[in-house]
Amino acid sequence: MRIVFDHAVDQGLIGRALAPAVFGSMWLDIPRPDYPRLPGATTCDLLVVGGGYTGLWTALHAAERDPDARVVVIEAERIGWAASGRNGGFVDASLTHGAENGKSRWPDEFDQLERMGLENLNGMAADIEKYGMRVDWQRTGMLAVATEEHQVPWLRDAAADGDGNFLDQAAVRAEVNSPTYLAGLFSADTCAIVDPARLVFELARACTEKGVRIHEHTDARGIKNETGGVAVTTASGTITAKRVVLATNVFPSLLKRNRLHTVPVYDHVLGTEPLTAEQLDRIGWRSRQGISDCGNQFHYYRLSADNRILWGGYDAMYHWGRRVDPRHEDRPDSFRKIAAHFFITFPQLADVRFSHRWAGPIDTNTRFCAHWGLAGRGRIAYVNGFTGLGVGATRFAADVCLDLLDGRPTERTQLEMVRKRPLPFPPEPLASVGIQLTRRSLDRADHNAGRRNLLLRTLDSLGLGFDS
Ligand SMILES: Cc1cc2nc3c(=O)[nH]c(=O)nc-3n(C[C@H](O)[C@H](O)[C@H](O)COP(=O)(O)OP(=O)(O)OC[C@H]3O[C@@H](n4cnc5c(N)ncnc54)[C@H](O)[C@@H]3O)c2cc1C
Repeated sequence: MRIVFDHAVDQGLIGRALAPAVFGSMWLDIPRPDYPRLPGATTCDLLVVGGGYTGLWTALHAAERDPDARVVVIEAERIGWAASGRNGGFVDASLTHGAENGKSRWPDEFDQLERMGLENLNGMAADIEKYGMRVDWQRTGMLAVATEEHQVPWLRDAAADGDGNFLDQAAVRAEVNSPTYLAGLFSADTCAIVDPARLVFELARACTEKGVRIHEHTDARGIKNETGGVAVTTASGTITAKRVVLATNVFPSLLKRNRLHTVPVYDHVLGTEPLTAEQLDRIGWRSRQGISDCGNQFHYYRLSADNRILWGGYDAMYHWGRRVDPRHEDRPDSFRKIAAHFFITFPQLADVRFSHRWAGPIDTNTRFCAHWGLAGRGRIAYVNGFTGLGVGATRFAADVCLDLLDGRPTERTQLEMVRKRPLPFPPEPLASVGIQLTRRSLDRADHNAGRRNLLLRTLDSLGLGFDS
């Protein structure tokens, strides 16, 4: 058995490659629009709390559904500063964090979920076109690569199930040339890549053009359902809204009932300097596919429009106390580990340097994909738990929130996936102990022909788990 990512890499090479890397998302290195702080107390028809993809898709689609509605978005910091400005920019059609997770949890509605996911991806492309969003959208498809022998039959089986085209070792290396690749599975239709920060800024622009008011540096501190509407308190005054959508992702929910449902899992990412044509030529990658490998702990990587390689994943970290804390982000061990994996994957690129290093907390729940709910007698909708696959799914989630507030059943709100909430994570110290044991077991399975131990099999049978 080959254990590819355990090979030693020259520490000098890693140190030299990481030396120029500044801390911060490479995507956010562009001019950003400013939106004013809330000037004082106000009223509106719909208040959206959170200025990432979920909040902005909600506001945009609300304005489309009712052009007269007074829609307000408040954002505690800056638009897109959090996950929406730091992610890999993989726009996957899956609403269920991959086919395997969807099939095992909702076998009866899986085909419907797949169709709705593809409709959502196509709808996103149509919205981008309609609003003239310049977001480097490319429908490149997705290449899953096997780097361990036991993963090869997984890809062959997935291809037999219609999930893509199987590529043998020679075929996959003809696409992208890594000595670690043993086989591949290419799915042409189900994935696009996008510039994530441009997407969130362009969404904000489209919102304002539709009359949505956006306020940055406006932190919602409390929420109360009153007779006159839902009162959301901020330092600048109270906003009284007929309806509210909470799009606050991994940050502490304004509703106490939600606090145990997700945990922050930190994902670390590197961005290279732009590759020259000659450097890129050494590895091929002419079709610019999004790529990920098949381990439980997996890497994801892609090219940016200016031919940087974004390289992330693998070392997903949960920290005791489930707090979102910027001190968890700049973690040298994680950056060194994933830099080593970069050079194992592409030894031809030993002269490439990293220009950026960053991290972000992923909103992880026990079923690995979004869950929704209503509060305040149906006036407040919320969604959480995208677990690392939210760039596409947030648009679908926004429509679900609007449907739920509307109160009329739709195909979306009738889904079992939407109606049922996952089990929460236990409080500390159980959460920490359970998650660390699960991480260790997943790592062991990756290095033991994929064999899952008793803990993982028990969690599988209970429909519980941990992922990033
Ligand atoms: C490193 C990393 C890589 C990823 N890669 C991918 C990928 O390639 N593909 C993919 O599909 N997904 C990926 N994801 C996940 C994806 O980025 C998220 O699922 C998605 O961005 C979630 O969008 P959001 O709007 O719900 O959350 P966010 O972008 O986190 O926005 C939530 C906003 O709410 C604001 N907020 C919170 N509380 C309050 C409050 N009380 N008052 C006012 N504002 C508040 C926050 O400041 C924040 O701006 C990745 C995530 C990370 C961290």
